[in-house]
Amino acid sequence: MIVLVINCGSSSLKFDVLDVEAQQTLAEGQVERIGAVSSLASVRVGDGKKQRKALQAADHGEALRFVMKTLFEGDEKLDATIDAVGHRVVHGGEHFADSVLIDDEVVEAIRDAFDLAPLHNPANLRGIQAAQAALPDVPHVAVFDTAFHQTLPEHAYLYAIPNRLYRRHKIRRYGFHGTSHYYVSRELYKLADLDKRSSRVISAHLGNGCSLAAIRDGRSVDTSMGMTPLAGLVMGTRSGSIDPSIVFDLVEKEELTLAEVHTLLNKYSGLLGLSGYAADMRDLLAEADDGDVRCRQAVDVFCYRVKGYIGQYLAALGGADAVVFTAGIGQNSPRIRAQICAGLEGLGIEMDAARNEAASGTAAKISTDASAVQVWAIPTNEELVIAIDTQKIAQARAQSPYA
Ligand code: ADP
Repeated sequence: MIVLVINCGSSSLKFDVLDVEAQQTLAEGQVERIGAVSSLASVRVGDGKKQRKALQAADHGEALRFVMKTLFEGDEKLDATIDAVGHRVVHGGEHFADSVLIDDEVVEAIRDAFDLAPLHNPANLRGIQAAQAALPDVPHVAVFDTAFHQTLPEHAYLYAIPNRLYRRHKIRRYGFHGTSHYYVSRELYKLADLDKRSSRVISAHLGNGCSLAAIRDGRSVDTSMGMTPLAGLVMGTRSGSIDPSIVFDLVEKEELTLAEVHTLLNKYSGLLGLSGYAADMRDLLAEADDGDVRCRQAVDVFCYRVKGYIGQYLAALGGADAVVFTAGIGQNSPRIRAQICAGLEGLGIEMDAARNEAASGTAAKISTDASAVQVWAIPTNEELVIAIDTQKIAQARAQSPYA
């Protein structure tokens, strides 16, 4: 089955076309700056070169029409037809513990979660509506970032604020990056020969956004992001968890509005805020090597926070069979992995320096054979998870009118 995977941000549309059986990407690309005076598209079909083009895309619908035209009528054409579309949706609230076929009820539920994800869900819904208009005859499936974490127990998802706020507004921990934590844990079971049914795994997704998950017997039991993706680890531009009183202090001392504090914590904090230089880990490491103190501090705070969560999840799981690192930083940076795991020998984590150094962008075990807790680096593939789920649901629908 050929599945178009769509991931929409407020001003961007990313897509991948996957042949699910072959687990192969047939085309990929994005349109950025949707709604601006000039948008920018890049499309690549197969191993061909990236076709870049400036265009005017007033909304996601126009962006998608351009993509479809480029894919099927461009110089380098895609020789396949789209059988189904899988949509990444950031927030499923408490409605969705699994991926679903999109119908009117699902659209309403995605709308219900606008409050919980005001930046992401409206954009995701715009993408769904644009794709339904462009491809009305194929099934559309929603895959939620939050779904994998719907198995969290109450003690992990409740915040210690008046309980009626949970009941009234559904204020609780949800967690994100679910497709990534799911994918790398499944890859790990195969690679490390672990029995999913009696396994304890800590998964560290370290990219621009970062989160850890504690996974027992294949199910997520804790995760570091919260009601929104702002909580937990230090990220590229997000602060991660801070003392909530700081928000009031910023309003008072810096005379910021709440909207400005929101922007400060989401867009100007994290690695960028700490270093005053960059959100990108590669840039920070290069500057730290050149003696920049604040860049080094940013890296140190980042690693220390991850180390703390690993300790927390070792406690939550009562030990672990494996820790797995993934995403841009996690799968590519031996240095960050080494700094995070340094000094954890007493907790059963013993890194193999040579294996760690050699593992960049490929799946590999990076702990010693004697390490009680295995450590792995495994590249993530969220698009593949979305495509596989989409195929499963589309096939079920094809087989049963009641699916
Ligand atoms: P996103 O969350 O946007 O998908 P990625 O998973 O691509 O982001 O991660 C981006 C981050 O990964 C950036 O901070 C980038 O510097 C970092 N990164 C990528 N390759 C390396 C590397 N070899 N060493 C250190 N950091 C890296």
